[in-house]
Amino acid sequence: MCTISPKLVETGRHLNIALLTDSEVTKVEGEAGNFRVTLKRKPRYIDVSKCTGCSDCAQVCPVPIAGRFDEGMAQQRAAFKLYPQAVPNAYAIESGASPPAGTPAQPVSGPKGTSP
Ligand code: SF4
Repeated sequence: MCTISPKLVETGRHLNIALLTDSEVTKVEGEAGNFRVTLKRKPRYIDVSKCTGCSDCAQVCPVPIAGRFDEGMAQQRAAFKLYPQAVPNAYAIESGASPPAGTPAQPVSGPKGTSP
């Protein structure tokens, strides 16, 4: 991360770059200098423009899921940020995850005892 993090931050702050996370290119038309690109955007269920990255949602989220960043070697909450230095600094909610009935929020640990 130490070599790529500065580039991620620079890209996130660049005035001519719009970050479209969790997006997939489905069609490209046109030619050099005049492309038209069609994307399929996956919902985050959290408004990136309003999220401050405070992690309060992950602290109270009662749904543990396999961690996405480390391919399931640790658990994370369904409300999550992919990794601490993620750009944008905003959380997302994993769709399809649901808490077992009556499950209270419990702390989970990531690698080396880090919190989600
Ligand atoms: S991290 Fe979670 S609780 Fe904090 S602002 Fe973002 S969505 Fe809201």
